[in-house]
Amino acid sequence: ITKGGESYIEKELNYGANNYHPLPVVLCKGEGMYLWDISGKRYYDFLAAYSAVNQGHCHPKIVEAMISQAKILSITSRAFHNNLLGETEELLCKTFGFDKALMMNSGVEAGESAVKIARRWGYEVKGIPANQARIVFCSNNFWGRTIAACASSDDPERYKNFGPFAGLNFQIIPYDNVDALEQALSNKNVAGFIFEPIQGEAGVVVPSTGYYTKVRELCTKYNVLMIADEIQTGIGRAGKLLCLEWENVKPDIVTLAKSLSGGLMPISAVLAKNEAMQVLIPGSHGSTFGGNPMACRVVQASLSVVKDEKLVENSEKMGQIFRNRMSTLIGGQVSEVRGKGLMNAFVIKSGKGAWDLCVKLAQNGLLAKPTHENIIRFTPPLIINEAQLNECMDIIIKAVNEL
Ligand code: PLP
Repeated sequence: ITKGGESYIEKELNYGANNYHPLPVVLCKGEGMYLWDISGKRYYDFLAAYSAVNQGHCHPKIVEAMISQAKILSITSRAFHNNLLGETEELLCKTFGFDKALMMNSGVEAGESAVKIARRWGYEVKGIPANQARIVFCSNNFWGRTIAACASSDDPERYKNFGPFAGLNFQIIPYDNVDALEQALSNKNVAGFIFEPIQGEAGVVVPSTGYYTKVRELCTKYNVLMIADEIQTGIGRAGKLLCLEWENVKPDIVTLAKSLSGGLMPISAVLAKNEAMQVLIPGSHGSTFGGNPMACRVVQASLSVVKDEKLVENSEKMGQIFRNRMSTLIGGQVSEVRGKGLMNAFVIKSGKGAWDLCVKLAQNGLLAKPTHENIIRFTPPLIINEAQLNECMDIIIKAVNEL
């Protein structure tokens, strides 16, 4: 699609690991809602780097925070204290309503950390016999690419030939199924239940109303840590600061990443109640880059943009407008429009229609990416305004009608 992009794409193919299948656009610039390719063509970004740029590309306040801190102090390691870590942890705890914060880097590290905390809590607080702790996951979950994440996946594309995974004691149950959950949690060795409030990579799968409340009830009843992976749904993406607020439910642990940094650098966090986080003692866990001063300043700036620009409210409002108008497409090539806030997806009727539609969208100046062969996720930066959204919906409707 990008004119003159062939040589860039060829170099990636020749020298890079072939672990992605990108659309044939070669991007070189981003600002707010927009991305530009090397030929100068401008696109609306409707992926937002898998929700890492909820604040829009290269947000000037976050860029300024990052650059100014980079000139003062970038990293100390946790061998010493630094002047920004404590206040950033306080900000994280107070913003999201938890007792303690653990800063890490990528999303999957936050997930790994949550698994470690849950297991240790299982032995030291719940009293699970040594090496028996079980963690329960949902089918079609996605939380990253480490060995533990592969081991908890039921998608062969993700785990095939990466084993063995024996002995991890992970259990996979159907998503949005309270009977299966109750059955799993009634096993006394279960330490934690980890789930996405809306399954992102699975194709924006929204569970039934009442599911979060029921998960909370069952985790409390069986003394199991309720762990919400809000790495994609959180920070306003699903129309609330945390998606679980849709049912006013508070988990014991939440993982965040992606837009915690507004897309400028990898930053993640685990937020937890005291009873869970206190199992981490010196020497038990850590990360060279976790909680570095630059990350702290970037988190502070990113969260202040979300608040100052009312991105949570905008996400909810624009999401309603999007689903209302897009629902009129149902019946043609589109069989379903679903989502919350600005985390939405189309289900396309024809087999491989999602890729073809994304190519058409890109040709018309809008970037989105299929998840699976027949689902397209629409997750623009949360800064989108109504005029831009209308223009984007015109592009989408035109492309769907050409399918
Ligand atoms: N959890 C969820 C819900 C995700 O969507 C993702 C990434 O897409 C992750 C975890 C992993 O994050 P990362 O790619 O930063 O490791």
